[in-house]
Amino acid sequence: MFEAVILICAAAGAPCEEALVPGFSAPTPAGCEAALTGGVDLPAWPDARVAGEPACREAGQMLEFREVSPGLFVHRGQIAEWNRENRGDMSNIAFVVGDSAVAVIDSGSARWMGEAVLRSIRAVTDLPVTHAIVTHMHPDHALGARVLAAAGAKVVGHAALDRALADRAATYLERLSIQAGADVALGTGVAPVDMAVEDVLRIDLGNRELEIRAWPLSHTGTDVTVLDRQSGALIAGDLVFDTHAPSLDGSLVGWQAVTADLVATDLTAVVPGHGTAWLDWPDGATAQARYLDVLARDTRRAIRDGLPLSAAVDTIAGSEADAWALFDVFNPRNATVAFTELEWE
Ligand SMILES: [Zn+2]
Repeated sequence: MFEAVILICAAAGAPCEEALVPGFSAPTPAGCEAALTGGVDLPAWPDARVAGEPACREAGQMLEFREVSPGLFVHRGQIAEWNRENRGDMSNIAFVVGDSAVAVIDSGSARWMGEAVLRSIRAVTDLPVTHAIVTHMHPDHALGARVLAAAGAKVVGHAALDRALADRAATYLERLSIQAGADVALGTGVAPVDMAVEDVLRIDLGNRELEIRAWPLSHTGTDVTVLDRQSGALIAGDLVFDTHAPSLDGSLVGWQAVTADLVATDLTAVVPGHGTAWLDWPDGATAQARYLDVLARDTRRAIRDGLPLSAAVDTIAGSEADAWALFDVFNPRNATVAFTELEWE
């Protein structure tokens, strides 16, 4: 396949990168060039300036997706923090193909990942990508969606998502640039929500309905899940972690309650935000439910014993250390959030 790209550069002059101009892919260079002659409405790339004209190239990088159930494809991100090797590819991404349309659930950390998701979809179907669902505010899930929006998708997210991202975007993008690289951050930005979910929203992809549900404060204050009725699977975002240590950025008590709700839901399987692409259910919830319970129990004990936060973070949930990847990164943060929440009980 061939596609249209254009050179974009940072305001300071460097770095420069070729960015995808969605909508001009064709099997031959001539087909792409013919499409370009009809005129191009360039998307806007945040903090970048356009430094050339659109041109046709052989299609760039795709992501590896596995069809976990008919029409439901999942990319498994690495279990890692952002770094220069993974370039932000460390969370799971899914897309669902109906009879008339495609919906994407999460989109990775950066512009290049949104572009790679689009190409991966095009390798499977020519149907329009009508919806880009963002499961929550965390940048490894949210920051590729802008590319999908430029390709015509409506951005779907929690009613609190716009505000949450407006408050955090500058910090997220600075961290992305430092940890994954300025080239990764170039042209990456937040996508405004077109369809805000207050409670439940249903989307029809053509004989395939997705049910998007907004949850109360738990992993974050912006979590939604996507139920694919045809497969009976729930794409859970970070309300469900597998292998990767859970990361608490909302309410521990809230997340315990939501986890219990999900465990009680009849599902074929769960696609978690991190870890295995297709998690048996409810067995797949056991480790997370246990971790959250231990985190709550140990935090309450530390508070009761009068430990200061600085001493408590070293002891809370230590028994879980061998059960999770990245435990030493996330558990101290979780303990801090839990302590701050539970000391006022
Ligand atoms: Zn998250």
